[in-house]
Amino acid sequence: MNPNRLLIIDDDAQIAEIYARVGQEAGFGTRIAPSAAEFRRQLQEWLPSIVLVDLRMPGTDGVELLRLCARERPPAKFIIASGLDHRVVDAAGRLARSFGLDVIGAMVKPVRIADLLALLQTHLAGEATTAGELEAAIAAQHIVGYWQPKLSVGTRAVVGAEVLARWRHPAHGMLMPDHFIPLAESGELIQRLTWSIVERSLAQHAEWAADGLVLPFAVNLSARCLTDLDLPDRLVDMCNRHGVPPERLTLEITESAAMRNQIESADILTRLRIKGIHLSIDDFGTGYSSLAQLQRLPFSELKIDKSFVMPMMQSHDCAVIVRTVIGMAQNLGLRAVAEGVETEECLALLADWGCDEMQGYLFSRALAPEDVPAFMAARA
Ligand code: C2E
Ligand code: CA
Ligand code: CA
Repeated sequence: MNPNRLLIIDDDAQIAEIYARVGQEAGFGTRIAPSAAEFRRQLQEWLPSIVLVDLRMPGTDGVELLRLCARERPPAKFIIASGLDHRVVDAAGRLARSFGLDVIGAMVKPVRIADLLALLQTHLAGEATTAGELEAAIAAQHIVGYWQPKLSVGTRAVVGAEVLARWRHPAHGMLMPDHFIPLAESGELIQRLTWSIVERSLAQHAEWAADGLVLPFAVNLSARCLTDLDLPDRLVDMCNRHGVPPERLTLEITESAAMRNQIESADILTRLRIKGIHLSIDDFGTGYSSLAQLQRLPFSELKIDKSFVMPMMQSHDCAVIVRTVIGMAQNLGLRAVAEGVETEECLALLADWGCDEMQGYLFSRALAPEDVPAFMAARA
């Protein structure tokens, strides 16, 4: 079966047919679901790799459909298209992400065929990845942490790094997280993946520290890991085994993850902080959370998502959001970190607004561990 399967749900049969033709041109097998019931059946049985949802459907609405999808946890990516205003479409995209869905695009109708074709083609998988393959890759240590430097906005010194997962696939080359994290998150593999990344990052950190390069680092923690009451003790044990002070480790947690099981996560997060591990709210602004709740949780850092930072120079709305979030972080005593800094102009504004740290392609992409020491030496 073609691993690239596009499921389309749109009440306008003609438009659905056009999308299907674009999908076929991009190399997808396509199906159209004319009703919510049919959609649900296809989602479970046909297992699409990409789902294209119209927000306005007879008898239901797109948001309800997205919520239903989130419950099913399909390892699919989502494109939202709608005739509604771009704010509504963007809001639905954010909502879907906060449900835990992997949204790769939000498009306002009339959708430009060239845009849709390009989007589909960038998400064309060579071969579908199965949980078994991913499991084997984790065991074989083919999932490797790449280190993206985090810099001080004021001094431009490297103050740490975020470790991002990459799959060094023997046949397909390097695969980015969007090819395998959603699959890992749809089952229990995310736990194994996370522990493997943490363990190897600690070992790497210790190796560099022995040579005098101390690079505090952050790893991404999935919501699924926040239900494990042993997490704080296991992490500290692991730090001890590698001789790394827990203060050098930060966990990046999305706001929706922290909000999901509030009592359990508050318990785990508080104990992590007591043990010295730092906590960062990741992708701030893309999920939904009560600020009061967030303030009650022991975070020390807030990361502003790149979807606000990157368009900041073109979008007044995004600039206002970034500036406001930096001010709010300051008032709550949180360090503000901007992600997706690609230009000096953007950096200058962030500096004006008092942002503390940044990461982005302006300075560096995520680096293979073997390239980190040279990068650090060049910047020193
Ligand atoms: P994230 O935590 O928001 O990570 C930041 C993403 O932004 C990374 O993408 C990084 O490469 C990218 N980025 C940073 N600066 C720039 C920039 O200036 N321009 C652009 N265009 N992009 C920039 P990446 O590595 O593809 O990771 C995507 C997502 O995958 C991460 O988003 C995170 O949610 C997830 N992820 C990655 N590694 C892990 C992991 O080990 N565990 C878990 N649970 N999730 C992971
Ligand atoms: Ca992150
Ligand atoms: Ca982000």
